[in-house]
Amino acid sequence: MATKELHLAHTKGFCAGVVNAIDIVERCLKKYGTPLYVRHAIVHNTSVIRDFESRGVIFIEDIADVPADHVVVFSAHGTEPAVYKQAQERHIQVIDATCPLVTKVHRQALRYTARGVHVVLIGHRGHQELIGTAGHIRPELLHIVEDAADIDALTIPASTEIAVLTQTTLSLDDTSGLIHQLQKKYPHIITGKKEDICYATQNRQNAVKELAKICDMIIVIGSPNSSNSNRLVETAKHSGTASFIVDLPEDIDFKRLTPFDRIGVTSGASVPHILVDQLITRLIQYFPGINVFEYPSVENDIAFPLPPAVRDVSL
Ligand code: SF4
Repeated sequence: MATKELHLAHTKGFCAGVVNAIDIVERCLKKYGTPLYVRHAIVHNTSVIRDFESRGVIFIEDIADVPADHVVVFSAHGTEPAVYKQAQERHIQVIDATCPLVTKVHRQALRYTARGVHVVLIGHRGHQELIGTAGHIRPELLHIVEDAADIDALTIPASTEIAVLTQTTLSLDDTSGLIHQLQKKYPHIITGKKEDICYATQNRQNAVKELAKICDMIIVIGSPNSSNSNRLVETAKHSGTASFIVDLPEDIDFKRLTPFDRIGVTSGASVPHILVDQLITRLIQYFPGINVFEYPSVENDIAFPLPPAVRDVSL
């Protein structure tokens, strides 16, 4: 029998937007104490949310659930302007943990709306990032598409100005296919110099494609509501390698890995690296003698500035 191999992806741990959002909540806990209110899951990861809840963070969706004299942190995924307005009307201080790469898309959405440009927004309906970005576009100019059928159904007059924006955590390959379809239907569509898919999503998908060349099974650690983690499973499968997502290392049934000789492990951008380490330890325990191959990270140190309200708080 061949010796089993374990291959670890070139990307590890949190992306810069998640580091920033978690850092903001930590600093708010120190500055304002508990209960601390956060609108929406600060990042889409079960273990991060459970840890904050155990320390007095209350996650809410409706600003009405925040008492008037408290601050509220807005999640990394971005928030629609109507919600900022609700907070302002109730004199609730907002500490904004929106990832700056999402804010960049919001700014572009506002510029298009100001010019009266129709915006085709590619993303997953119901995902907080899409809801937040859509809120920055005038409703009569907004066209949300998820797939090719949605593009076929678009009835925007060809004589109007049209642009495309995307969620930051989509599949690179699927999105370029959809943009190509849009360009065929609307040759004058403004696509921008670069798509809006962020560096962390791109790096993780590229790393999975590399793993897929070597592995016959790829485990993606990530929560079921994490868009970028689910796209990693799809990327592996599109590359011809079996793959599944697991939220926590203890959730895995290791027996199902027995038929595979070369197992790859990767994780979404909001997954604490400790979960990857725990999974590796369990795999080594379950398959003694498994050869572990680790590759250097492709990510440079990227850091985003903190909001002024918590910049001076030391941890
Ligand atoms: S996945 Fe990308 S857009 Fe989302 S928080 Fe991370 S860096 Fe920002």
